[in-house]
Amino acid sequence: MDYAEHVVDLVGDTPLVRLGTIAVSGVPVLAKVEYLNPGGSVKDRIALRMVEAAEESGELRPGGTIVEPTSGNTGVGLAMVAQRKGYRCVFVCPDKVSEDKRNVLVAYGAEVVVCPTAVPPGHPESYYSVSDRLVEEIDGAWKPDQYSNPANPESHYRSTGPEIWERTGGRVTHFVAGIGTGGTISGTGRYLKEISDGRVRIVGADPEGSVYSGGSGRPYLVEGVGEDFWPTTYDREVCDEIVPVSDADSFQMTRRLAREEALLVGGSCGMAVAAAVQVAERAEPDDVVVVLLPDGGRGYLTKVFNDSWMASYGFLSPDHTGRSVGDVL
Ligand code: PMP
Repeated sequence: MDYAEHVVDLVGDTPLVRLGTIAVSGVPVLAKVEYLNPGGSVKDRIALRMVEAAEESGELRPGGTIVEPTSGNTGVGLAMVAQRKGYRCVFVCPDKVSEDKRNVLVAYGAEVVVCPTAVPPGHPESYYSVSDRLVEEIDGAWKPDQYSNPANPESHYRSTGPEIWERTGGRVTHFVAGIGTGGTISGTGRYLKEISDGRVRIVGADPEGSVYSGGSGRPYLVEGVGEDFWPTTYDREVCDEIVPVSDADSFQMTRRLAREEALLVGGSCGMAVAAAVQVAERAEPDDVVVVLLPDGGRGYLTKVFNDSWMASYGFLSPDHTGRSVGDVL
């Protein structure tokens, strides 16, 4: 019999799949499909490692409480790991976060505290202030803080990097990933550079306007990537190149991934693939490009995959002929 004792034991070791119709330059573009993690995203990896590291250091003790300002994938990963290990989870999120997303966290057994969006970060009711206060008030509370926790990039150095090296038989020449906290690109990139003696080129994909590609943090709509500050989890030494990608290109590529490759993934995946296609077009014939797809597309059905939403921002491509729910055929 071959089975896991718990879904948490199934985190990582995700497969690579070659992009067939989208990347046509002849150079293989291999997508690392992170939605196949049990919590549905790449963040399962950091959740597990951050909790383990906090247990090792004594910051998190039996019966403790995990408090984090998050509404997304990191919350799901933490909730899953917390359930396995018997910790309480309290997540703090702004009220702009959809009820569906909050309900996912509650379904895993977490508690969710909702704060007003329309207050500055320093305001006592902001979700940053509330999470800080909860950490002080709750006995045995621990805040992972994915933006400063070294276990975030470390999880990728230990797992994502070695997996890519092994599954490509050491033939990977380029690694492309979006940058949010920077944990994925910094940890994976550092591993791949070390093991290849600097041969693997590390390419960050960034929404136009974010700090990583020289912007000021101007708003963009792709979720989970880009920042308006420099998190300490981002290692500025690792990237050889940063490719800025527009919202329109990110979302159009995200939709192509679903329609042409049957990969229903989130908007940051389309962004990373748009950059990876550029990389492949100027690569050498023997090169192998690996691009990481952080999460699945189900959380974005009312946005990226909705024609009215796309059209309202002018993101639909001029040759768009798609059908939407409700169309009479
Ligand atoms: N895409 C999505 C959907 C994410 O949630 C994140 C994490 N913020 C990223 C990409 C970027 O990953 P990282 O934080 O490791 O840079």
